[in-house]
Amino acid sequence: MKHRSGNFTVIALVILTVIVWLVFPPINHGTENFARAYAGEVLGSIIIVLMSCSLFLSTRPRWAEPFFGGLDKMYLTHRRTSTGAFLLMFVHLLTVPITTVGLRLGNYLAMISFLGIVAIVLPTLAPHIPFLNRLTQSTYEGWKKLHRFIGIFFITGFIHSLTIKGLDAFIAINWVQFFFIIGTASYLYTEVFGKFFRKYVPYTVEAVNHPNGSTTEVVLRAKKDPIQKHRAGQFLFVRFPKEKLLDESHPFTISSASHEDVLRLTIKAGGDFTRHLFSSLQAGMDAVIEGAYGMFDHKTGGQKQIWVAGGIGVTPFLSFIRSLDGNLAQDVDFYYTVRHREEAVFVEEIESAAKQNPRLKVYIRFSSAEGSLTAEEIIKNAGGNINGHHIYMCGPLPMVQAFEKKFLEANVPAANIHYEEFNFR
Ligand SMILES: Cc1cc2nc3c(=O)[nH]c(=O)nc-3n(C[C@H](O)[C@H](O)[C@H](O)COP(=O)(O)OP(=O)(O)OC[C@H]3O[C@@H](n4cnc5c(N)ncnc54)[C@H](O)[C@@H]3O)c2cc1C
Repeated sequence: MKHRSGNFTVIALVILTVIVWLVFPPINHGTENFARAYAGEVLGSIIIVLMSCSLFLSTRPRWAEPFFGGLDKMYLTHRRTSTGAFLLMFVHLLTVPITTVGLRLGNYLAMISFLGIVAIVLPTLAPHIPFLNRLTQSTYEGWKKLHRFIGIFFITGFIHSLTIKGLDAFIAINWVQFFFIIGTASYLYTEVFGKFFRKYVPYTVEAVNHPNGSTTEVVLRAKKDPIQKHRAGQFLFVRFPKEKLLDESHPFTISSASHEDVLRLTIKAGGDFTRHLFSSLQAGMDAVIEGAYGMFDHKTGGQKQIWVAGGIGVTPFLSFIRSLDGNLAQDVDFYYTVRHREEAVFVEEIESAAKQNPRLKVYIRFSSAEGSLTAEEIIKNAGGNINGHHIYMCGPLPMVQAFEKKFLEANVPAANIHYEEFNFR
């Protein structure tokens, strides 16, 4: 329950905003189109609250992770609050009585804010729209750079609300101002001040291995003090500052054991950064690390567990297995599924861990030869009833979602299903 309280808080803040406007309504001094203006103010306030939640979550507050279930889930909430605010902007635009207010500075600011946010948010759809694809050079980094301007339009949007002839609603407006301050402070922290407070730890690339033709294992050693002690299953952000194309901060799961004195990352070449890393990263290069983050931790689950890894989603499970120290405290069925045999990494190590830990049963599936793994098989192998099991999944989103649906249908409580979100966009 605790890991959902962050989301409940966001919902509660939206509801409270509406309540504040209802309990302390604006005074009607005979304003034309009063009802529409009132509705417009309420919608505008909800937009400010949602956007300030999004901006706050972008600061990556580690202390808030337990209330959302990890930083990866905080990004999901960030995406939802941003989408909610974005959609409400259109409703707000249709609700406010622009014609009677006339085109004053405030309305121009509203337009700037609206168009700015639309221009920034639309490239989220870039992979599907050629024009937007060019705008962001079809890279995540291009999209991220554009995304950085969102706070400016948030501030413009709020100033717009101050410069139009607003309604007389002292308490409600002060309530919203509080969120504006939180949102603006969060934005400034993310873009300007954060770099003075965040801990960026220098490491050196000690070794670069290629377990197969598309995967890189990066071994990193701290130059001085390592990052704070991490738990198996957590992830970090890494960049390699001396190599121009690798000087972007990307998230990767730590695939080494929590007790190792080096950090190991196992990285699949897929896009620009990871492909360049596969071909150019070399031992001796500098690295900068921020982390660790995340709450994907099988030790918090019950006695009976099912782990499902798809493709490179095996990385948190590698860390679980490597951290075992020969005594697994739970009964685990571990499924590792890849399309072709040559895509699988560290299979021998996984199988040898299973030999040393009788409570760990490993099922490796090459789906091109043996067909796709199904939830029915998993349930059957677990004895037919899995509603007391804790399930841990990491892999392509459609796979994780399809399994989640099936497990919920098999009466596994939602709280027992845990997954690592590999996509921040
Ligand atoms: C919590 C977490 C853990 C991860 N662990 C691993 C791992 O152990 N091994 C592994 O191979 N991959 C892992 N990934 C995925 C990895 O971060 C992306 O594949 C990688 O950043 C892609 O970069 P690219 O430029 O090569 O690809 P692109 O084609 O540019 O990006 C592909 C997708 O990766 C994501 N992405 C790209 N750049 C970033 C960025 N700077 N920050 C956040 N997301 C980005 C976006 O969703 C994007 O749509 C993890 C992702 C997350 C969120």
